[in-house]
Amino acid sequence: MNTHKTKRADILIADNQIENLKLLSQILEQESYKVRQAIDYEMALIAVETEIPDLILLGFNLDKVDSYQLCKKLKKQETTTNIPIIFFSDFDDFEERIKALKLGIIDYIIKPYRKEELLVKIENKVKISLKMQQLKETNKNLEKKLELIEVSQQFHQEIPLESHLLYQAIAATNNSIIITDATASDYPIIYVNPGFEIMTGYSLEEVAGKNCRFLQGSDRQQPQLEQIRHCLKQGQSCHVTLRNYRKDGSLFWNEMSLSPIKDESDNIIYYMGVQTDVTDKKRANEAQQRYEASLQKMNRELHELNQKLYRLANMDGLTEVANRRCFDETLDQEWRRLSRERKPLSLILGDIDYFKRYNDKYGHLGGDDCLKKVAATIAQATLRPADLVARYGGEEFAVILPDTPYEGAKQVAQRILDSLRRLRIPHKASDVKPYVTMSLGVGTITPSLQENMKSFVDQVDEALFDAKKEGRDRLKGLTNTDP
Ligand code: GH3
Ligand code: MG
Ligand code: MG
Repeated sequence: MNTHKTKRADILIADNQIENLKLLSQILEQESYKVRQAIDYEMALIAVETEIPDLILLGFNLDKVDSYQLCKKLKKQETTTNIPIIFFSDFDDFEERIKALKLGIIDYIIKPYRKEELLVKIENKVKISLKMQQLKETNKNLEKKLELIEVSQQFHQEIPLESHLLYQAIAATNNSIIITDATASDYPIIYVNPGFEIMTGYSLEEVAGKNCRFLQGSDRQQPQLEQIRHCLKQGQSCHVTLRNYRKDGSLFWNEMSLSPIKDESDNIIYYMGVQTDVTDKKRANEAQQRYEASLQKMNRELHELNQKLYRLANMDGLTEVANRRCFDETLDQEWRRLSRERKPLSLILGDIDYFKRYNDKYGHLGGDDCLKKVAATIAQATLRPADLVARYGGEEFAVILPDTPYEGAKQVAQRILDSLRRLRIPHKASDVKPYVTMSLGVGTITPSLQENMKSFVDQVDEALFDAKKEGRDRLKGLTNTDP
């Protein structure tokens, strides 16, 4: 007797004799059954409705009519029809017993109730009831599974369902979809989706039967159209971006993928065009390109401006050789570089002879003109790219000759004097020659950071002063200059 111990079986005892209810309840509770009691028909019904019992012990002492009625009612209802019902009675009545059995009760117990017999009978019936319930549950689960299998089979196999899904997908997409008939001449449109209608403003009724070319209006000079014609001829797919026009005449950029659809015999029967409105993308690209072009222009202008500024900052406006600022900077850089490299640096300082008189004689503008010619002559006399010719002050010029020994510097200085002489710029007021001449001081040093750059320049200036003193139109080297 252990079946009911796994699940405490629920037994409803219905009878109008309280002693019977008490007695039977005691016996069953001792066996750990869950026992509920009902004293009349109504109470029994409520108990059953509240929770379906695993077994009902229905007393025949209930009003007879009530007992039969309850039995009939429970057997009629789907939820209660399988509850096993055992009748019990204080007396044995064969006819009643047959009647009850015909109503569907499964057993019959007569007083005096023998406990063992009662329990065995109940135990068996409860066992069967629980098993039935279990089977019912299993059956329910199986039914559910079967239902699921049927649904999934329907979903996967039934073509109409798939077609419906496909149609819904095509209708839902934001892309515009056009299908044209490839078997008819001029590829008439046979389908457009709602996306097309939204994109172009044309409905299916308006475009059905037409060739897609109406979308370009009179804007037919587009190379991509030729590409489409070529693909149609070859039966290939293509991807193009076209200028198209909506129903309201507004332009939009249409990025289109055109693909052939074939039948089982490999014949092209349709063409499908999937279109995306890329106007915003295109506009953004164009704006980006315009922006980049203006950026390039701006960079060019900035570069030119920089060069101009650099020239302005570093070039002498009149003579177009380097100015004093550039001279100072270059000398400083070369001084440090050559002191690291332990290489010689030469400097020429030049001054036009009797230039005050030149101005007096030929006027200030004539003087300016002379300065330009002298500067150009000096520039021509220096050959290396690293050499720097600068206007040092009024009619004074300087030449920095990096990595140039004294002999080399002297040669440059000599070339300057010779070139200027050859130029023969008239200078009738000069005491030296009837043409413009210069005096030059030349010095060379291997710079070091300990050496004073300014004192070197002063020494070269002194050499220039000496050249003046010694009669002008000449060069004078530093006496203690490096060889
Ligand atoms: P010296 O032979 O001793 O060098 O005599 P000098 O007259 O050349 O020397 P001085 O320093 O007395 O005169 C320099 C003159 O150069 C003064 C000025 O009239 C002239 N000068 C300086 N800068 C300019 C300029 O930019 N343009 C013109 N036209 N003349 C200038
Ligand atoms: Mg001077
Ligand atoms: Mg002078």
